[in-house]
Amino acid sequence: MQPTQQHRAKKSLGQNFLVDRNICEKIVSRLNIHPEDTIIEIGPGQGALTSLLVESDAAKVIALEKDEDLVNSLTQRWPELEVRNMDALEFDWQSLSSLKPYKIIGNLPYNIASKLIWDIVSMTRKCSKAVFMVQHEVALRLTAKPSNKQYGGLTVWVKNHARTSYAFKVPASVFRPKPNVDSAIVDFFPFEDNALPENSFQLEALIKTCFQKRRKQLRNILKLKWNTDFEQWFKEASLTPQLRPENLSPELFRSLSRLM
Ligand code: SAM
Repeated sequence: MQPTQQHRAKKSLGQNFLVDRNICEKIVSRLNIHPEDTIIEIGPGQGALTSLLVESDAAKVIALEKDEDLVNSLTQRWPELEVRNMDALEFDWQSLSSLKPYKIIGNLPYNIASKLIWDIVSMTRKCSKAVFMVQHEVALRLTAKPSNKQYGGLTVWVKNHARTSYAFKVPASVFRPKPNVDSAIVDFFPFEDNALPENSFQLEALIKTCFQKRRKQLRNILKLKWNTDFEQWFKEASLTPQLRPENLSPELFRSLSRLM
């Protein structure tokens, strides 16, 4: 995949560009694009994935790119592409609610991937699918099961908003410059509105409180709030409050947050 112009990769923006067309095709095909789909791409870079998105059946492609140096060449190359020169962390995901259906894709800049995914899963409505490339380590966290070393706050939050699935590992050799760590693709299947947490604020607060002290027992973590409702909740769930945060499933976190 040829870059459109000489561009010096910026480490601060996580610029590791894909240079293998087969891998790009494999990633884009996971979106299963239909003619009525709008696609949002985060960080198009030099257009490795973008070129396939623009050539696809998608109704429209919108790309969010922070690096001004890349924006001009993207718009010159594909006038039909809507490129927004902005920080994806500041994008108003809720403004997409009227677009239906839409899908999101991105080989995400590593330094903001977790934060971006945290925001996206909770702020997007009517997104039917998302496919993200992240560090392998992060992919394991996004798809981890309870009582597993990788299971943490990000896992619980994301799995309360979407089903995730580890797709495949991507070797460092398909990037320029080559990153020091492995990458992987994760598929996201967002929940319908009626399956989303009704008490997001409390759930977020509970997750953050618990995973700041992940080695402690839940009873100790929650001791300032502890009352008979908590006692009752553990009893009804047939669980002991001596469990640690990593032992509670995403569903149990949601249920427990209703007491907060
Ligand atoms: N999609 C291209 C590819 O696969 O070759 C580039 C991927 S590169 C890992 C990440 C891209 O995200 C870069 O183009 C970078 O400039 C852009 N980027 C970094 N931080 C960003 C941010 N906060 N908002 C939007 N784009 C960002």
